[in-house]
Amino acid sequence: MRLPAMPRTAGRAVFLIVFAGAIAGPVACIDWNAVHTPAQWLYNLGRSAALMGFVILCFQVVLTCRWKLLDYLFAIDRITNFHKRMGILVTVLLTTHVFLILSAIKSSGQTLPDSWQIDVGEVTLALLWVTVVLALTFDMFGLDYNIWRLSHKTALLLVVLGFIHSRFIGFQLLNTRLVVFWWILLAVAALAAAYRNIVIPLFLRRRCRIDSILPQTHDTFTLSFKPVEKAIRQHKPGQFMWLTLKRPGRKSETHPFTIASSPTALPALQVTIKQSGNYTNTIGLTRTTDTAIIEGPYGRFSMLNYPATPLLFIAGGVGITPVMSMIRYLRDTGDNRRVILLYGNKTADDIIFKDELNTLASNFTITHILSRPSPDWSGPKGHITGELIGEHAQSILHNAEVFLCGPPAMMDKIIAALKQLAVPAARVHYERFTI
Ligand SMILES: Cc1cc2nc3c(=O)[nH]c(=O)nc-3n(C[C@H](O)[C@H](O)[C@H](O)COP(=O)(O)OP(=O)(O)OC[C@H]3O[C@@H](n4cnc5c(N)ncnc54)[C@H](O)[C@@H]3O)c2cc1C
Repeated sequence: MRLPAMPRTAGRAVFLIVFAGAIAGPVACIDWNAVHTPAQWLYNLGRSAALMGFVILCFQVVLTCRWKLLDYLFAIDRITNFHKRMGILVTVLLTTHVFLILSAIKSSGQTLPDSWQIDVGEVTLALLWVTVVLALTFDMFGLDYNIWRLSHKTALLLVVLGFIHSRFIGFQLLNTRLVVFWWILLAVAALAAAYRNIVIPLFLRRRCRIDSILPQTHDTFTLSFKPVEKAIRQHKPGQFMWLTLKRPGRKSETHPFTIASSPTALPALQVTIKQSGNYTNTIGLTRTTDTAIIEGPYGRFSMLNYPATPLLFIAGGVGITPVMSMIRYLRDTGDNRRVILLYGNKTADDIIFKDELNTLASNFTITHILSRPSPDWSGPKGHITGELIGEHAQSILHNAEVFLCGPPAMMDKIIAALKQLAVPAARVHYERFTI
């Protein structure tokens, strides 16, 4: 699908206005003039919380449907983080709704009627709490990611149950325009769910054969693929894809990985994966007889999205993969702009793509920084700091686009350091591997 020619900022503004309008609109439709007693205030505030909560809930389905337009406007990793925060907000709003309605009923001297509509509301809220708590804590309890994903998909039920609850308990309270709006919301959520669960699996995934699986360092492997049927969509250097390996006898899981190869290598694709958890620890056991299903590309982390200024790349560990894709692209296209890479690792053995980085032309300056070097290491030691950035990249800081990818703690420190160095946030681009 061709992306609309709409400028990104305008597109973002339109989306956010629609989002905010959809949340505020229903609340504005409540007849606040007819509210006279404290109980009525509590009641209407409770309804407002529910109306806003339900609209945001429906938008969650849209936010997570991997729609290319949203990726173009905001980048999928940021959307996922926003989705997490919105999930918490929905829970707060719908819980507040219950408390306010109960308080309104109590202060007007009535009791809560016994009705199936209220039971549906209670089930919805309980399911919402389970979904959000599971999403925020599944890492801590070592819950299998696939089980969590499946449980998260059942969250679609929340929209249906929430709709039924409001349809049968609240429609007489809503005016006609709001009823129409509610149906539109349900339809939008249904379309987004259909796109994510039917269109993407059927039409937008590509089956690839695995050409090779080669160790890159002691704990990273590079897998090379070629599409077997339809070609994969053109990617930009630095973008990522969702990869599912079909390996007989092993669980099939879908994980996001950067396309570490350059678009100049198409139709071939490469990913470089670090053994860092339950799934990636088995990556070296992949065989060329296995099959890969890929979906993508996604992401905004590419220097092709920004002006052709000097580039400062800052990477930590496996965070080098999107940077390597960009470096390979610059090298293969003969782009001779100034490029500085500051690459942090624990030891020299952890440096990924060491040999390839050593053979780059003179417009590339590569500095390795080791936090646990061997005694014979003569390069910079410790972590990448603002001071080190100043020392090695001062000459380009005034106009360079900065691309940062690494462990979360490192990224947070470097983003703060770049701010201290007066690098405008608009020139600092980063990708988080934990979404
Ligand atoms: C945009 C992007 C690009 C990435 N590129 C690379 C790359 O080039 N090379 C590389 O080695 N790693 C990359 N990662 C990280 C990689 O996706 C995770 O390390 C991997 O999914 C962890 O899976 P695991 O089961 O081995 O680890 P676990 O220890 O089981 O999980 C570690 C954490 O990863 C997350 N996670 C687990 N499974 C998934 C999943 N299926 N989907 C999404 N998140 C999951 C969870 O938050 C979990 O806490 C990238 C991540 C993102 C978001």
